[in-house]
Formats: sequence, C-alpha cells, structure tokens
Amino acid sequence: MSAFNPAVSAEQLRGWDNAHVWHPFTAMSAYVDEHAPIIADADGFDLIDVDGRKYLDGISSLWCNVHGHRVPEIDGAVRAQLNRVGHSTMLGLSSEVSIRLAKALVDITPGNLTKVFYSDSGATAVEVALKLAYQYHQQKPAADSARDTFISVGNAYHGDTLGSVSVGSMDVFHRTYRNLLFPTVSVPSPVATRVPDGYDRDSWLQFCFDRATELITENHRRAAGFVIEPLVQGAAGILVHPNGYLKHIRQLCSQFQIPLIADEVAVGFGRTGTMFACEQEAVLPDLMCVAKGITGGYLPLAATLATDEIYEAFLGAPDAGCTFFHGHTYTGNPLGCAAALASLQRFQQHNLLDHVNAVAGLITERLGQLANHRHVGEIRQKGIMVGIELVHDKQTMDPFAATLRVGHQVTVAARRRGLIIRPLGDVVVLMPAPAMPFLLIQKMCDTTIEAIEEVVCQLE
Ligand SMILES: *Cc1c(COP(=O)(O)O)cnc(C)c1O
Repeated sequence: MSAFNPAVSAEQLRGWDNAHVWHPFTAMSAYVDEHAPIIADADGFDLIDVDGRKYLDGISSLWCNVHGHRVPEIDGAVRAQLNRVGHSTMLGLSSEVSIRLAKALVDITPGNLTKVFYSDSGATAVEVALKLAYQYHQQKPAADSARDTFISVGNAYHGDTLGSVSVGSMDVFHRTYRNLLFPTVSVPSPVATRVPDGYDRDSWLQFCFDRATELITENHRRAAGFVIEPLVQGAAGILVHPNGYLKHIRQLCSQFQIPLIADEVAVGFGRTGTMFACEQEAVLPDLMCVAKGITGGYLPLAATLATDEIYEAFLGAPDAGCTFFHGHTYTGNPLGCAAALASLQRFQQHNLLDHVNAVAGLITERLGQLANHRHVGEIRQKGIMVGIELVHDKQTMDPFAATLRVGHQVTVAARRRGLIIRPLGDVVVLMPAPAMPFLLIQKMCDTTIEAIEEVVCQLE
C-alpha cells in the first residue's frame, strides 16, 4: 500500500504511525500500545478521529487554538492568501500581509514595542530575543561587553532549542543537556504550593521577592536580560505568580538597565483574561515573544517585538557588522500572517476578552467541587489556564509514585469520555480555546472531574 492511495484504512495508518512517526514529548515505548486517536477532521471545538469519534479539544491543540477549528473567517483568509502567494522570503524583501500584521501587533501590544521580528515558533521567538538582547549591549551607545549571561526564573520553560533550554530550568526536560547549555542565574519561582521548612506561604513569597532583588543586584553587570513567563509559568504546571511580582521584576530591571524579555508565548492572546499578561501589571517589556495563539492556532508563526531603543543599536552602516544575522526560511510566512490578521479581527468583533473572563468564572465554580477532594492538592487558575495538581495525600502534599502515571491515566480516562487533555506530570491541565462556549466549558470541567474520580478510585 502506498502513502498516496486515498483508500488507506485506519488500521493501516496506525501501523504506519507506529512504524515511522516519532512523536514529540512522547514516551514512544508506551505510545505504540495506547491507540491514541488519529485526528483527521475537526468541527468547531471538536477533533474527529479516523474512526469518526469526536473529542472535545480541552487543551486547544496544545495551547494555541483560539476560536475553534474551521473558523470561516480564518479559513477564508488563508484560502484568499493561497490565491495570491503561499510563501515568499522576508530576507531583504517584504510581503503585504506581514506588513499589515506587524502594524496590527504593534497596535495591540504594550505601547513601547514598535518593531516586529518574525520567526516560526515560540522557541525561535525566544532565541531571537536572547540574541537581540545580547547583541544590543555590545552595540548600544555606551557599549558594554560584560553582559554575558541571562537571569531567569526557577522552573521556567521557554522552548526546546538550546538557547531556550539554557534559560529554562525544568529538570526533567533539561537535565540531559546540561553540558551543552550556557550558564544563567536563576531566581526562585515565586510559588508557595510547597514551602521549605521554616516558612509559611507569605514568608516564602516574601523570600522570593527579596531573593530576586538580591540576585539581580549582585549580577546586574553581567545580565544581558531577564527572561520571564509573565503571571503564569505554563509548562511547569500552571504556576500562578502572586500579584506584583512581574512589576517588582520590571522595577529592578529598569533600575539596573537590564532588558526585560516577556515570553508571552503561552499567556498571550487572551489566555489570562487580557490580550497580553503584561497588561495586568501595567508592565512594558523591552522584548516580547509571541507565538502559540498568534494565528488562532492555525499555522506556525511567531514574533519577537522590540523597542526603538533596542532596534536603533542595530542601525550602523551595512558593512559595520551590527546587522542582526538571524532568520528562518519560513519567517513571516504569508499564510500564517493572513490567519493571524483574521484571528485578531475576530478578537475584536466577538468581544472575546469579555467571554474569556466570563468562562473563567464558570471554570472556577465548576472545579470548586474538587476543592476538598483528598487527592487534589491544589487547583491553580489564571483566566482560562488551569492546573489541577493530583497528590497522594492532600495534607502532606506527597505526590503519587511516578510509576503510576496518574496524570497520564486521567488523560486516557478523559479520552474514553470524549475529551482530549494532556497532563504535566500529575497536574491535569485544562486550556480551553478562548472562544469555547459555556456549555462546552461545563462539559470539559465535568468530564475532567469524572476522569479524575475514576482513576483515583482504582488506586484505592
Ligand atoms: C510553548 C512555549 C514555548 C515554546 O513554543 P514552541 O512554539 O513550542 O516552540 C516557549 N515559551 C513558553 C512560555 C511556552 O509555553
């Protein structure tokens, strides 16, 4: 049977999947026996597999889908762009839609950001920000070559390329590559789910604020930038920062002239209840990375936004060597830009941020049922980003044995009930699309609760 034969059966596809496809962030030894759905179609907020089974998309196709699937305006915009040109390069040339999108992005992002550098994923948007910040110090008016490291937050996740991994600190994902990474300074993640002996919640958070002050003060001469996921550390398990932390970091960075790099890849485009998370603390970053939701979740596109001040340090004569020598073949792809423009327009036309805030309230209420559950250690939520941390013992916060794969089992139980979710360890993550309607939000919450009950009952 050839791959081009239109009559390939579901069985045959499964065989080829197991024979040839290596899945990201997936334990392949277990995957081959799991019969994961093979998605062939979608309808609104449902994904449909090759056997015709429907699943509610509870993680918005890994945190990127915004308005649902097969949205008429976005489909139409991509088709219209296909009738013009599918791809042309941004290296020394421009394209109509990429210019329009840059203007639209500058209009909606914090006011000091005026320049848009395109790439194609969150990781590349972060790489670009790191390289821009590093080069900026060497080329700024009072050049400063001592800025050779970055400060980041404990348990950070900024993507999987080596620069992004260097500023990341999620041990399970990153420890293997330790010897390949550049050194960074890490401030403790300001979260109090578990606090060290001798602290309570408040005194621990205060320690985190103070420690950030100390470490930034000590290292400011070497710091090329401070990288942060504003308000919520997504991949670490939906860790929600206390109010004022982002602003605290902004103030310290301003005091020591350290560029603040806001990685809005996960939190951007409405997930926390505002278009961008930085808005909630009136923070103006010097560099901002956007990706995931930018195209409404349709196509791989990303952007790093910069201030005039950073941009101007790259404006020497062409032969002066201060050009930013960085780019990707598909940077600023016109199909992605067309999808992004249509998505941004829908944000306005449908008052999507109001909807996000309303459904966030519904999620809080629905999941309130789990608040006293003996195996639910904590429910974390910001906007429509939700993490339900399952633990062996709520009192001690002792985790389940890793071999039980409790988070994964909940995912499998949810799948049997027609809901796609994906855990981070034993944190069950719910990340609905910002436009998901109330009834489906309710169904997502209720199905998740049932799946959790089923799995923890079997463990007792
Ligand atoms: C997902 C994510 C990235 C990486 O984005 P990719 O498109 O997967 O490369 C970077 N930063 C944050 C905060 C993310 O959540």
